[in-house]
Amino acid sequence: MHQLDQILSEVAGYFPSADLPLVRRAYQFAAQAHDGQTRKSGDPYVTHPLAVAQIIAELKLDVASVCAGLLHDCVEDTSATIEQLSELFGKEVAFLVEGVTKLGKLPYSTREEQQAENFRKMLLAMARDIRVILVKLCDRLDNMRSLNHLPPEKQERIAAETMQIYAPLANRLGIQWVKVELEDLSFKYTNPGEYEQLAHDVSKSRAERLEYIHSVEKLIQKEMIDNGVPCEVMGRAKHLWSIYQKMKRTQRPFEEIHDAIGFRVITDSQMHCYQALGVAHQTWTPIPGRFKDYIALPKPNLYQSLHTAVIGPRGERIEVQIRTSEMNLVAEHGIAAHWKYKEGSISSQAIGPDDKKFAWLRQLIESQKELRDPTEFLESVKVDLFGDEVYVFTPGGDVKALPKGSCPIDFAYSVHSSIGDHCSGARVNGMIVPLRYQLRNGDTIEIITSPNQKPNKDWLKLVKTARARTKVRWLLRQEQRDKAVLLGTDLLDKALRKHNTTLTRAEKQLKSAAQELKCMTVDELIIQIGYGKITTQQVLEKALPELAKKSDEPAVKAESMLKTLLRKVTRRTSSSGIKVAGEEDILVRFAKCCSPLPGDPVVGFITRGRGVTVHRRDCDKGLDLDPERRIDVEWDGNGTTQHEVAIQVLCSDKPGLLAHISQSFSDQGVNISQAHCRATEDGRAVNTFHASVKDLDQLKQVIRSLSRIKGVYSVDRVSADLG
Ligand code: MN
Repeated sequence: MHQLDQILSEVAGYFPSADLPLVRRAYQFAAQAHDGQTRKSGDPYVTHPLAVAQIIAELKLDVASVCAGLLHDCVEDTSATIEQLSELFGKEVAFLVEGVTKLGKLPYSTREEQQAENFRKMLLAMARDIRVILVKLCDRLDNMRSLNHLPPEKQERIAAETMQIYAPLANRLGIQWVKVELEDLSFKYTNPGEYEQLAHDVSKSRAERLEYIHSVEKLIQKEMIDNGVPCEVMGRAKHLWSIYQKMKRTQRPFEEIHDAIGFRVITDSQMHCYQALGVAHQTWTPIPGRFKDYIALPKPNLYQSLHTAVIGPRGERIEVQIRTSEMNLVAEHGIAAHWKYKEGSISSQAIGPDDKKFAWLRQLIESQKELRDPTEFLESVKVDLFGDEVYVFTPGGDVKALPKGSCPIDFAYSVHSSIGDHCSGARVNGMIVPLRYQLRNGDTIEIITSPNQKPNKDWLKLVKTARARTKVRWLLRQEQRDKAVLLGTDLLDKALRKHNTTLTRAEKQLKSAAQELKCMTVDELIIQIGYGKITTQQVLEKALPELAKKSDEPAVKAESMLKTLLRKVTRRTSSSGIKVAGEEDILVRFAKCCSPLPGDPVVGFITRGRGVTVHRRDCDKGLDLDPERRIDVEWDGNGTTQHEVAIQVLCSDKPGLLAHISQSFSDQGVNISQAHCRATEDGRAVNTFHASVKDLDQLKQVIRSLSRIKGVYSVDRVSADLG
């Protein structure tokens, strides 16, 4: 009962007129409904909804959300129904619970498409009522906190998904503390070896660090107050995942990461923020290129702050963030800080078309409408969610935030799709640049358009935003379709003429042939012929049965590439372990660029004369290939081939470590065929091993055991080409 009281007093604290008895009743209902159920930890099940509700209260969300947190698993796991909840707790609570239930239980599958589908559902739910997502995030956070009770395989999958989807989502919604905790928890389960090593390193220096933080805090505060800036200063170690990212990025060990501690100056007004910046730069030497003004140019998730880095009082680099207490609230709670409490209810949560604040969300939802393939959708959305932004200007001075690495085409599409479609070049800060130019912070961009310009395949390699990618893909497909119409018409016309008839004369017969061949219209039939999915012979057999049979001339063919292939290569190989469109005996090659392993999500591409090439689903090269040549493939579980993979191990350059590493390979029963080792200047070693493994599980085992070796910083599967 203790935790419920805690939740109640928390809610009453930020929302004095809250309907607390409703929360109490929701708890009682949940406790009864889940009676007799237990969690994997052995605790009564209701501890989970309670913990979720507690997180929701920490986010200071409204009563309906807190109740929804308490009731979120009732409909899925107990005999309770939505109607019942609606009757007992009102429509709003029932709506939220239904929303969370529809998002589904934890998607335990690694299949990308299912993940994409889940993600798509989430975006749509978010558009309707963002509280659904917030409750789901809190649910995921509690699940991550109790992940240690699940078997390792599930841990890894759930953690990977959290890192891929939930943490970026929390970041995008600006809920910093949830993002940070999700990242560290995911890190712990996806890279246990590296996590433990780093956690150990960090805690070792803890006392020393605390003392350092404390003295620098005092120093900064004194300087500020002496110069008339009232403020509070807080120093804090960065979270493990961000330190780890920095170590990987800079290829440095923990001891050399000097800005692992950040300082925050919280003051009372925007004016004092800029004044504080002045004081900091006047007292300590600023490091060039590190100053960022997110007050004048807020991040898309509404974050505001001044960032700078200076050579600190002990000659070390320190990062300083300066903001008002109001901005600090937004920095921690993000979208949740924007809740406006009015007379016991809150203003609408749906994101209206005019709400500029969450333009990115609206754009994502918009682009998903046009993407038919969920994998493609996930691929492009990930960039938008993960990437850092660059801020650029229109000639009129409007700011646009685009993912890092964006090119002028992305910018053009963010202005208007017709500008994107006809974008032929760009002027950046007055200078003409090529379309592959990567936008930089502060660039002013003017797009040059030409009516004759249209998107081409190369654009897909340049663009970064989901919006541009979707539009370009769509137009390219449209173009292919137009070509298919021309080709199909031509082929069918020729075939008909051989039998002394024409498209117009045979219209009636073609209509019924189209229906028999499962095409809605004759036009559709023609397109299918153009794509090679239906042959003219098939059409003739249906449309002109007597003539077609009598004819001994070979009919004009535009055979489906797959059908030809099937005939040619039947029974050539049988141990590849791959099924192509359900058929087993197809000539299969594994792409060198990504070396897929049994267990990897894969996709096949039909090649001319060389059977089917299998790529990993997330392989860049695969994404660039013609979608028309794409074909479903899956592992059949009977493969006998060993697959070569390249594994890169970054470790300290200590004697004996290499022996340890190769021992670890042979312990796993894996042979190394090649090894390249190179020492770096800072006393570390980069080793690339080529080894043959059976499948993804075996590779994961190898990686896991290598990660556990002391002195190993990171273990990555890399492209065999690079090795
Ligand atoms: Mn749950």
